[in-house]
Amino acid sequence: MIIQLEPQINQEQLARLEKELTRIKYSLNPVKTQYANYLVGVGKTKFDIRSIGTLPGIKDIHRVSDAYKLVSKKWRIDNTVIDLGDGIRIGEGSPAMMVGPCSIESEEQVALTIAHMKKNGIRIMRGGVYKPRSSPYSFRGLGIEGLKMWHEQTREAGIKIITEVMMVDQIEEMYDYVDVFQVGARNSQNFNLLDALGEVDRPVLLKRGISGTIDELLASAEYIFSNGNERIMLCERGIRSYETAYRNTFDINALVMLKEKTHLPVIADPSHGIGVRRFVDKIALASAVAGADGIIMEVHHEPEKAFSDGQQTLSFGQAEKLYQQLKRMEWLQE
Ligand code: PEP
Ligand code: MN
Repeated sequence: MIIQLEPQINQEQLARLEKELTRIKYSLNPVKTQYANYLVGVGKTKFDIRSIGTLPGIKDIHRVSDAYKLVSKKWRIDNTVIDLGDGIRIGEGSPAMMVGPCSIESEEQVALTIAHMKKNGIRIMRGGVYKPRSSPYSFRGLGIEGLKMWHEQTREAGIKIITEVMMVDQIEEMYDYVDVFQVGARNSQNFNLLDALGEVDRPVLLKRGISGTIDELLASAEYIFSNGNERIMLCERGIRSYETAYRNTFDINALVMLKEKTHLPVIADPSHGIGVRRFVDKIALASAVAGADGIIMEVHHEPEKAFSDGQQTLSFGQAEKLYQQLKRMEWLQE
């Protein structure tokens, strides 16, 4: 059960409400976000919703039988729209394109990517400065100095930054330079990190775990929301299956299923989803047809020379062909 409280609820009304929920054996979980105060009740007892809904101090009440509550569409029917400022909105009716390299590598690379983005009207740049790599000997990112350099260039260009945060300790130093924090697949169930991002007033893009189920992804999102941050996007980036012909198995089913289960925007990552450059455009187009609210994709001025994930990275020319196709489908705006 989710109860949205009236902002002006008083102590007496709150006590009465709590007493009523205790009576029907519901646990009480107060949640305070940047937008509202809620009480999330978890329990099994059957009860008449009117007996609680009519109590003073309640703005809205819903029964939510899912294990996840605040991210469920059973409670919030209107899709969440995430406003990044400067007219950039992600969610219903505003599909978002987020492009950039797997890793931020150099000033020149950032400048070339920004020029490509400006030419194509794309305003959110992805890139990693803290890279989770399967081998400790691979390039692991330029770190905070790389982020500052990148931010200096994007700020001038009016472009927003989405980048991965790997540890709780990094949040504070990154905060001023980041518009969206990305939680990578490997950290999808790092509950300490999710808790901490719940306390930060920055949108979060949460990736599905490498072997994560849809319900686990939603439960992870619930961690962020219940700690106070409502601005969450979910990202399908392919899962580990028995198939070895490509890097990951992009689960197109997840896009439609997530759109039904949650009000949060759902973003597709076709680059990691298939991991093979020549097919990334097809998976991106399929994602648009399946109703993705956005696409996050790896591009590079010289993909074969990229420090990481070059095999799945599009050249600027290949990316432009895809943007044209997405515009013809009327998914991307001209
Ligand atoms: C990335 O976006 O470059 C990345 C490491 O993604 P994932 O966490 O999905 O593997
Ligand atoms: Mn990558």
